[in-house]
Amino acid sequence: MSLTVVGSIAFDAVKSPFGEREKMLGGAAVHFSLAASFFTDVRVVGPVGDDFGDDEYGVLHGRGVNTDDIEHVEGGETFFWKAHYEFDMNTAHTEDTRLGVFGEFEPKLSDASRSSDVLFLANIQPDVQRGVREQCPDVRIAGLDSMNLWIDTARDSLVQTIGGVDLLFLNDAELRMLTGEANLVKASRAVMEMGPSTVVAKQGEYGAALFTADGFFALPAYPLETVVDPTGAGDSFAGGFLGYLASRSEASDEELRRAMTYGSTLASFNVEEFGTERVSRLAREEIDERYSEFERMTALAGLPA
Ligand code: AMP
Repeated sequence: MSLTVVGSIAFDAVKSPFGEREKMLGGAAVHFSLAASFFTDVRVVGPVGDDFGDDEYGVLHGRGVNTDDIEHVEGGETFFWKAHYEFDMNTAHTEDTRLGVFGEFEPKLSDASRSSDVLFLANIQPDVQRGVREQCPDVRIAGLDSMNLWIDTARDSLVQTIGGVDLLFLNDAELRMLTGEANLVKASRAVMEMGPSTVVAKQGEYGAALFTADGFFALPAYPLETVVDPTGAGDSFAGGFLGYLASRSEASDEELRRAMTYGSTLASFNVEEFGTERVSRLAREEIDERYSEFERMTALAGLPA
């Protein structure tokens, strides 16, 4: 089983109440790839500039991620994002975005990337996402993430793009904004009318909720004592979620619940340290241990009334 992700590969400068980093490896596609790599073969597609070197490739290769479709643009600079978090770490305050090579990005997928079982369209301009979706007509599952910027500036294109995927990941405020529905249950139904059969509402430190045609499931975030850097939590969540699904033969409601738990597990490790630091040295046993803690934490069935 294999998975292709298309999205930003970046250098991030991040300051949180617990420290700061001036230039570290980041980007939605990177966070996603590292998380998904624990479950399936991952191919990452995105552009980088001359400043992207062996150390950065080393982090991806260290987790076995295939980088053949990373496009190196001669003379270009890698996408750069600068942000800070205040004590409410659910909101990133963007200070600077330098698109660099990302500004001209026209994804060209190799045959190998096109023929993956699962495709994830990380947060990029919706026309570009749709172009990638059209290059991969045979995928078993296509998932998509987006953001308020595109809901504001390219809503029609985004709705059309959402129409071509099976699974939408958005945070709760974005779901409300996209659909004009204040109520999340109604908002999810409205998304399903656009096309996807599954909607995941990300709720930051409060966890995530899953909506399907006849099912609902919700999970709290893992109760960490220290969150150092929430950057990439949503992408690690999607990586754990879709990576797990790529390794399974079906996406039943039961499997989707397990996928929610793996997604939450990977997101919880991601935020323990800056950038990719924690997930790049994570071991599979640690994932399994935390998954079991989720099981214990949320067990109601079987308890005496
Ligand atoms: P998240 O924490 O889910 O918002 O994802 C953060 C990651 O997304 C960072 O590593 C950034 O490099 C990347 N990022 C920030 N802004 C954008 C953008 N406008 N388009 C694509 N990627 C972005």
